[in-house]
Amino acid sequence: MTSQRTRERLIARLQDQGITNFAVLDAIRSIPRHLFVDEALAHRAYEDTALPIGHNQTISQPYIVARMTELLLQGGPLNKVLEIGTGSGYQTAVLSAFASEIYSLERIKALQEKARQRLRALRMNNVVFRYADGNVGLQEKAPFDGILAAAAPAEVPQELLEQLAVGGRLIIPIGEDQQKLYRITRSEQGYHREFIEDVRFVPFRSGLR
Ligand code: SAH
Repeated sequence: MTSQRTRERLIARLQDQGITNFAVLDAIRSIPRHLFVDEALAHRAYEDTALPIGHNQTISQPYIVARMTELLLQGGPLNKVLEIGTGSGYQTAVLSAFASEIYSLERIKALQEKARQRLRALRMNNVVFRYADGNVGLQEKAPFDGILAAAAPAEVPQELLEQLAVGGRLIIPIGEDQQKLYRITRSEQGYHREFIEDVRFVPFRSGLR
């Protein structure tokens, strides 16, 4: 159920849905997603679907992880990345293959701890986990080449825009019931916003838990 064949089926599905970046597909092929969910759900880990991870949160759908990573990789180097919403740590693990330094913020301590253990076991050592509210980003480590939000705020937090490097990209779902995924790129002149597609994410919340 967690076999190579099951994983290949997932990769084929992602390609059918338009994921073309081979490095991203390779990362998804090699990262053991079954280790990012409870054992009882491990048999569903290579389905292209979000799954519960407790605390009312979900591990993102592989398609959306692939898509967001692909979007982040387009448009320039990716040294320093900020992720808002570690969750299971699965998206973080994928990012770990592409960026040199990743800062991942999570407001639910229990999820953060599990994610930290998983990445340690996989020897992904370029990730710094912070128990923090992502609303204000992480000023002390800014600017970032990429910022990726795994939860949807009603509007783009101003701090995240300000913490982008020139040339940096923010990939973020926006909206309450109906959500839209955007890529916002910072240039010398300002910000350029592109609509990507309709999506469904868990809500972006304020404060720590
Ligand atoms: N990509 C993750 C998805 C996690 S779900 C995965 O594949 O597992 C989104 C996560 O964002 C949840 O864990 C939630 O607690 C977190 N979150 C929501 N609002 C946040 C905020 N303001 N700051 C930090 N984390 C937040």
